[in-house]
Parts: sequence; C-alpha cells; structure tokens
Amino acid sequence: MTEIALDFDDVICAFGLGIRDAVEHEFGVRVEPFKEWNITEVLNPIVGEDWFGGWLRERPQRWVDFPAIDGAIGGIKQLRRDGHYIEVVTAKPEWAEFVIWEWFGKHRPPVNRVTIVDVGVPKTEASDAELLVDDAPDNVATWLRDGRDAILFSQSHNIHEEVNAPRVANWRELVELVRMEEAVKL
Ligand SMILES: [Mg+2]
Repeated sequence: MTEIALDFDDVICAFGLGIRDAVEHEFGVRVEPFKEWNITEVLNPIVGEDWFGGWLRERPQRWVDFPAIDGAIGGIKQLRRDGHYIEVVTAKPEWAEFVIWEWFGKHRPPVNRVTIVDVGVPKTEASDAELLVDDAPDNVATWLRDGRDAILFSQSHNIHEEVNAPRVANWRELVELVRMEEAVKL
C-alpha cells in the first residue's frame, strides 16, 4: 500500500480544456491547447483582465462544471481497490476552495483525503504521501528534492519540460505504472 498524492487540476479535473472551452464560448474565439505553463499571456488579452483573479473568480461555477480528465474517476477507483491511500493535494486561493467540494460532490472520486494548500506553499509541507502525481514540473521537482517519488502527468503545457521523473500520458498509463512499481516492491 502506497500513500499517493494526486494533484487536482489537469490530473483529475480537465482544467486547461475547461478554461479553453469557457473562454471560447464567452468570447467567440479559438483558443489553442496551451503550450506553456504560464497561460496569462494567452488569456489576459482575450478576457481583458486578470483571467484567474478577475475573470474566473467572477465565474467560479464554470470551474465546477469542468469535466473530469478521461479515465481519472475510474483510475482512482482502481488505485483504491488496489489498496492505496489516495490524498488529493491542491493549491487554491480561498475563493476557489468551494470548487473542490462541489466538483467532488458531483463526480465522487473515491479519495481518502483532500488537502488544500495555500497558493505558493510547497505541497511537500502539507502532505506525507510517498508518491506525487502532478502536471506541474515545479511541484514534481520539489517533491523529488524532498527524497520522494513523483510522476509527471503529461499535458500539452508541460510536454517540453525536462523532469527527472517518469511521465505518463493518461490515466491508463498511470495505473499501469503504479502497479508495476508496486510489483517491484513485493
Ligand atoms: Mg495541476
């Protein structure tokens, strides 16, 4: 049994896709899949203000409505059935915390624990989990520096990033990799 920390946005919840859809719908523009971690330069000119602390903050229900990443809900169920302890660890400003609870009420991923950390606080300070799954290269690098295992969840915005951790393309690959690593431990 492994304690597994899962990031929320772009690992469980399709944040990048959801933001693109919402902006496309509201402004009638085409938004390409994000190629960089910093999406401010793409979004602020379209929405005409700070896309996160202004635009999204005034429409948080959009976030609640973002779909799950393909395979995430079933993948979490498989990891639970395999006996792992699942903790979701996500950084949120206070105004966005309710999004987690509403989204979880709707999609019901079977997790053991949810930990919300303040924005800017390293996830290593908030969780004792052994393994982190995250799409943020910085979070993965910090976790590795703490001497723990991490897996980078591949997304268009991190595809060019080099990290010293295995990368998975989707939830099927993630569950397979966790099972392989568990088998090696036995
Ligand atoms: Mg994320």
